[in-house]
This record gives sequence, C-alpha cells and structure tokens, in this order.
Amino acid sequence: MLDKTKFYINGSWVQSLDGQIFPVLNPATECAFATITLGGTQDAEGAIAAAKGAFPAWSVTSSDERSSYLQKLLDIYIKRNDEMGATISTEMGAPIDMALRDQAGAGVGHLKSFIRALGAMKFQRPLRDGIEGQDIVFEAAGVAALITPWNWPMNQVVLKVGAALAAGCTMVLKPSEIAPMSSILFTEMVHEAGFPAGVFNMVNGDGVGVGTFLSSHPDVDVVSFTGSTRAGILISKAAADTVKTVSLELGGKSPNLVFDDCDVEKAVRMGAAFCFNNTGQSCNAATRMIVQRSIYDQAVEIAAAKADATKVDLPSNAGKHIGPLVSEAQFEKVQRMIQSGIDEGARLVAGGVGRPEGINRGWFVKPTVFADAKKDMTIVREEIFGPVLALMPFDNEEEGISLANDTPYGLAAYIQTGDMGRARRVAAKLRAGMIQVNGASRAPGSPFGGYKQSGVGREGGFWGIEEFLEIKTISGIA
Ligand code: NAD
Repeated sequence: MLDKTKFYINGSWVQSLDGQIFPVLNPATECAFATITLGGTQDAEGAIAAAKGAFPAWSVTSSDERSSYLQKLLDIYIKRNDEMGATISTEMGAPIDMALRDQAGAGVGHLKSFIRALGAMKFQRPLRDGIEGQDIVFEAAGVAALITPWNWPMNQVVLKVGAALAAGCTMVLKPSEIAPMSSILFTEMVHEAGFPAGVFNMVNGDGVGVGTFLSSHPDVDVVSFTGSTRAGILISKAAADTVKTVSLELGGKSPNLVFDDCDVEKAVRMGAAFCFNNTGQSCNAATRMIVQRSIYDQAVEIAAAKADATKVDLPSNAGKHIGPLVSEAQFEKVQRMIQSGIDEGARLVAGGVGRPEGINRGWFVKPTVFADAKKDMTIVREEIFGPVLALMPFDNEEEGISLANDTPYGLAAYIQTGDMGRARRVAAKLRAGMIQVNGASRAPGSPFGGYKQSGVGREGGFWGIEEFLEIKTISGIA
C-alpha cells in the first residue's frame, strides 16, 4: 500500500494537521492501492497562507522568468511521462496506451501552449495609438484555488496550474480525492523544477471540506473549478460572499449532428467511438447523435455494430479497448441511467445493464446504444458520464439545430456534413463553446469551455492565462 498522506505546503512535504486517512481504489480491481489524507481546515489554511506569502515576489517576476520555470517543469514532465501515464491508468482506469498518449500527453501539450502564449503576451500596453500617458496593465490576480476532477486528471490540473503560474499567481491545488495520485506525482515535478516556496501548494481533500473552505476563503482571489455543474453551483455560492473571480468548466451533453451528405459509415463510427472513449467519462463527449432521417436506420445499425465491436478490458493491457468506470458510485449511476432509458421507452440496440460478459470484478460496463430517444428522456437530458449513446432522427436542418440546442448545457457540438456552407450556417446557430466539423481536432492552445450551464470562462493557451489576470488602467503617467 502506497503511503501518500502528506501535503505540499510552502515548498515541503508535510503531515496533515487535522485530516483523515482515505483509501485510493483501483477501479479495475476495486482494491485500495494507496492512502491519502483528506485535509481539514487547518491544512487548507496553511496552504492559503503559504500562497499568500509567496504572492508579492512571484507576481512581479518577469514573464521570461516564469517561462523558464515552466520550461523546466515541461522537461521534467516529459522525462516522467510514462510514470504519469501509468499512475493515471491505475487511479482512474484509462487503458495504458491511451493514458500514456492522451491523458498524460495532455499535460505536455498544455505546458507547451502556455509557454508559447506567454512569449507572445504583452502585460503592459497603451490603450490605443494616439493616447499618451495611459497604460493598460495585466497583473496576476492573486491567490488561486484550483479544484479538479478525476476524469482527465492531468489535462485539468495542468490547464489550471500552468495558466496560474504563467500569469504570476500563487496557488493551492485540490485535486479529486478519487484520482489524487497523478497530482501527487505532478507536485513532485513542480518541486523538482524549483519554483519558489509557497508559489504552488497541494492539499488533498473532499469537496465539502477543503473544496468549500478554499472557495469561501477571503484570502483566495480566484477559484478555477472543473467538475460537475452541481458542484460548480455550490462553489459559486460559496465564493459569492467574498466576491472572487470564479471560472467554471462544467458538464456537457454534446450533440453530434449527422447530415446525409457526409461519409455516413465513417462519421457514425467515429462519433460512437468518441462517445465511448475514456469509457464515456469526458465532459465534451458526443452523447446525443442527431441524424437526418434518410440515413437514420443505417446510422443506428453502424453505431450498434461499433458498440458491439468495442472491447472492454483491463487498463493495464495494451490496445485500443476501453477500461472500467472510475468508481462504484459512477458504475451505479450509469446502471441507473441505462435502466431509465429502457423504462422510458428508448430502443436498446447494443449493450445494456450489467457488466460485460466474462467480467465479474471492477467497475466495467457495456458500451450501450439507444435508438429512438426522445428529447425529454433522462438519457437525453442528463449527463451520464459512461459509454452510452442516444440516437434521435431529424427531418430538416432547423429541426436538427433545435434538437441540438435543446439542452441546459453548451460545451461542445459536432457537425458531420460534406457541405461547408451548411457547416458554417449550422455552426453559427449552435449554442456551444466548441464546434468540430467532420472530426477536425482543435489546435493546441485553443480556448476550451462552454456556454450555458457548461460553465464560465475558457481554459488553454492565452485565454487560460487571462482567467488569472486582473486588468489595471493607469492614466497620467506620461
Ligand atoms: P465533482 O464535481 O464531483 O468533483 C470535482 C471536484 O470538485 C473534486 O475535486 C471534488 O472534490 C470537488 N468538489 C465537489 N463538491 C465540491 C464543493 N461543494 N465545493 C468545492 N469543491 C467540490 O465532479 P467529478 O465527478 O470529479 O467529475 C466529473 C464532472 O466533471 C462531470 O460533470 C464532467 O462533465 C465535469 N468535467 C468538465 C470538464 C470541462 O472542462 N467542462 C472537464 C472534465 C470534467
């Protein structure tokens, strides 16, 4: 059993003052493989005080200096990428090849993007040409609390830590208590990179304890949160009394609009695979496939075949399969959602409740496809966070767009069409922060975030750094 019960505060690994021991479970075996501590208020208070103490010196470092620290961190991260991939795979169940390439690799990509963005940013500039003696200055906002989920652990952590460091903020990271091991490893890397004591602090804990304490603390200036819409609302309320900046990256129920002028076989196979990737535990997963009626039956068949062909296997095995869900709670939730699809009358065409055949341990589920889903069904309205795809038909473009937008979320949306005029027209009408046409991926450093109840603010590259900056206008200093 690994003992990872210490926190990282003011440049040292320290024992908890008032925490409780908590097991970390491997989702493939359901067995504990490590212990951490869920911090108490004294632990969180100590971390905030360290960040506050380090802020005056760190916030006035030059962007070149911060960039060279980030470069050191990037070099260390690349050296330890395999260790990171293996850690993520064990703590949250991502298959090892995917964990190494995509999960751990996301950290490398984001650090590179922040270094690139920092090089191009001007932290002081005139308002506009012809205005003398007035500057607009972009300054570090202060102490940041960074609260992250378990599903893409390093993606989320590096998006926040990298941006906050680049901006000149000091910080307290509270990673997910379900998948804290990657953040502990990342903290070792930050330590090795030699950041000044107190700039980065890490305290484990749960949402009700450390999460709420950080969100409501008067010495915390910015809260950057990724997780469920439920917790995002609670955090916003907790932060309101001290009027801090709150950035939220929340849930999604993203539509995938499939028109009959696309390569149907390819688009539907890719769409289903994207929904099942990471065992459906991605906020931007394309979970509602909205298909033009002329190709609807064909799409149902292709999606069901893709689900049947998707292998479910141990995360430690090499290959392109999917692993287990992260936890028993998530397993139970996905079972309930699949059952609700059946009870509410959607047509089950692949998968269903229970574990895949031959598997009787670990939180593995069957890739599942429902056809003939209706817009008021639970499986269409709620984020499932499992490999469950719902298909519904549409007759014309307007109806397709209306179904796509009929959700409280607005994180991502996907369009499959051979007609670029249509792609532009539809993209303009979709209420979502990220639109992908025919599977084209976003370039590194693109802004990530959503409309409506998918959140507030953007992460990644320049936009991510901006979330940690205050804007000051100085006039009369010619
Ligand atoms: P969660 O909201 O339960 O927990 C996320 C983090 O918030 C954890 O660190 C948790 O301890 C903490 N937390 C929980 N309640 C809190 C509270 N009241 N105050 C402060 N902190 C609190 O989410 P999860 O189950 O870990 O992650 C899954 C969710 O994250 C999904 O809804 C998914 O869509 C979302 N997500 C969104 C994005 C995005 O960028 N939009 C990315 C990844 C995941």
